[in-house]
Amino acid sequence: MSTGEQAIVRRARRYLAHAGARSRIALWQLPTIIAVLLVALASPASWADPAARPLVVASIVVLGVACVGALALPWDRLPDQLVLAVPVLDLVALGLMRNASAALQGIAALAIFPIIWIAASMRSALWALLVSFTAPLVMTLPSLIQAFAHGTPAGANSSIFLAVLLLAVAVAIRAATTGLHLQERELRAQRARLRRLLLESQSTERLLAAILEAVSVGIVAVDSYGTPVRTNRRFRELVSPFDLPAAAPVDADLQLYARDHRTPLAPLQQQLERAAQGERIDGEVMWLGEGSDSAALSVSSRAVDGPRGGAVVAFADVTALANAAEDKAELVRTVAHEFRSPLTAVLGNVDLVLESESLASDDRLRLDVAQRSAERLLELATDLVASSSHSVPIRLEHADVGAVVSARAEAARLTAVAAGVQLAVEVGEPLWARADPLRVGQVIDNLLSNAIKYSPDGGTVTLRGALKDGWITVEVRDSGMGIPSHERQRVFERFFRTSQARRSDIPGVGLGLAISSWIAERHGGGLACESQPGRGSVFTLTLPVAGPA
Ligand code: ADP
Repeated sequence: MSTGEQAIVRRARRYLAHAGARSRIALWQLPTIIAVLLVALASPASWADPAARPLVVASIVVLGVACVGALALPWDRLPDQLVLAVPVLDLVALGLMRNASAALQGIAALAIFPIIWIAASMRSALWALLVSFTAPLVMTLPSLIQAFAHGTPAGANSSIFLAVLLLAVAVAIRAATTGLHLQERELRAQRARLRRLLLESQSTERLLAAILEAVSVGIVAVDSYGTPVRTNRRFRELVSPFDLPAAAPVDADLQLYARDHRTPLAPLQQQLERAAQGERIDGEVMWLGEGSDSAALSVSSRAVDGPRGGAVVAFADVTALANAAEDKAELVRTVAHEFRSPLTAVLGNVDLVLESESLASDDRLRLDVAQRSAERLLELATDLVASSSHSVPIRLEHADVGAVVSARAEAARLTAVAAGVQLAVEVGEPLWARADPLRVGQVIDNLLSNAIKYSPDGGTVTLRGALKDGWITVEVRDSGMGIPSHERQRVFERFFRTSQARRSDIPGVGLGLAISSWIAERHGGGLACESQPGRGSVFTLTLPVAGPA
C-alpha cells in the first residue's frame, strides 16, 4: 500500500472511529440506495410499467423502511446484531423489485452490497455464508420455479451463478475481515498488556521511591561509569555537609579515610566506580570528610544485573558505633597504660630483692612466681596499649628475615619440647627485607607459641622461610586443633578466641594475632590463615622482598 493510500485508510479509520453507530450504518446503506437510484434513472420505462407497479411500490416501501430505520433507530442502545435487519430488508426490497418485471431482473446483482455488509458484520461465519448463498436463490425463486416447471433447467443458470458469485464474494470478505478482526484483537490484547505493565511499573516505581525515602541508609544507584543516577534523601543528607552536588557527584573529590580516621582512601567517586565495575563491597568502614562533620560509613555495594549494568551502593551511618568503639579503645589504652608504671616498679623492686644473697629459698620461689606473674601482666598491658592505639613503633632496616626465623625457632625449642611438640625449621638462604627484626621476631614468636599452644596432643610444628614470587613468606604449620571456617577470618580481630580455645583451658586473650597482622601490614605485607578443624593450621606471614645491602 502506498503512503498516500495508507493516509487515506488512516483518515477513514479515524473518521469511522469518531463517527457514531448511526453514521456508520448510513454509510453501509448508501451504496445500495445510490445503485437503486442509478438503475431507476437509467431505465425509467422498466419500473414505470403499470404491471410492475405493485411490486415496485412494495420494494420502495421496504427500502424506505430500511433507510428510515438506519437513520432513526438508537443503534447505540440496541443489540449490535440487530442492525443486520437493514441489509436483510435491502435484500427483500431488491428481490421484490427484481421480480416486478422482466426488465428489472438484472437488479438482483445489486444484492452484492447488502451481502458484503452481512458477510463483514455477522458474528457467525456459517450463517453469513448461508445467507449469502440462499438470499440470491430466494430473490430469483420465481425464475427458478419457472425454469424447472417448463423443463428448461438452463434457465436457472443465471440464478445459480449469482448465488455462487455472491457466496464467493462473501467468503473473500469473510476471510479478509477475519484476518483484520484477529489483528485488531491481538492489538487490543497487546495494548491491554502494555497498559497493565505500565501500571505495574508505575506502582513498583512508587513503592521503590517510598522504600528509598523510608530507609535510614544512604543509597546511591550508579550507572556503569559510576555516575549517580539516583540517590535517596539519606544519602543527600550524608553528603550535604560536604557540598557534594546531590545529583551528580562525578567530579566530587570527597575524601574518605580508613577506619583509623587518618589513612586516606580513594575518594568517594572512585568508590562508586569500583562498585560500578562490579566489585562487591561488604560493610567496609570508611570515614567521610574531616573534622566535626565527619561521618563513619559502613559501605556495601551490589552490581545490577542486566545489559545496562551499574550498581547500588549503600552507606550506613555508623558514626555513633565507631565513636563508641574509639571511646572503648581509649579507655583500654588509658587503663593499660596506667598499669604499666606500677608494674614496672613492682618488677624493679622484686628484681632488687631477688638479688639479695640472704634470701631464704622458700621466699625466693615465691618471689619468682610473683615476678613471672608481674611480667605476664606487663606483657598484657603492653599488648593492650599496642592493640588499642596501633602504636607499636616500627623501625625499618635492611634485615635478614631468614636469620630472625632461625633465632626465634631456637628460642621456642624448649617450650616445644615441654609441650611434646616436634619443631622443624626449613630456611635455606638469607631472606633480605626492609623490616624491623624486633617486630618480625614478635610476629614469629606469636605464631610459634600459638602453634605449640593449640596443639595440646603434641604433633609437629614446621617453620618454613622462603622466597616466593617476589615476596618473603614465613609459614608456621601445625597439626593441632585447627580453626572452623566460620571463625577463620575473625582470629585477626582483637579479643577474638575460637570457641574451642575458650572451652579448653589454654590461656590467652586474643590480642597476639591482631597485633601481628597489624605489624605485617605496616611492613607492606600481610598475615593469612588456612586451617582444617582437627587437622591443623597454617599461618603465613608475607613481607616484600629487598635485595642484599
Ligand atoms: P591468644 O592465643 O592469646 O588467644 P591470638 O590472637 O594469638 O590470641 O589468637 C587468637 C585466637 O586464634 C586464639 O584464641 C585461638 O582461638 C586461635 N588460634 C590462633 N592460632 C591458632 C592455631 N595455631 N591453631 C588453632 N587456633 C589458633
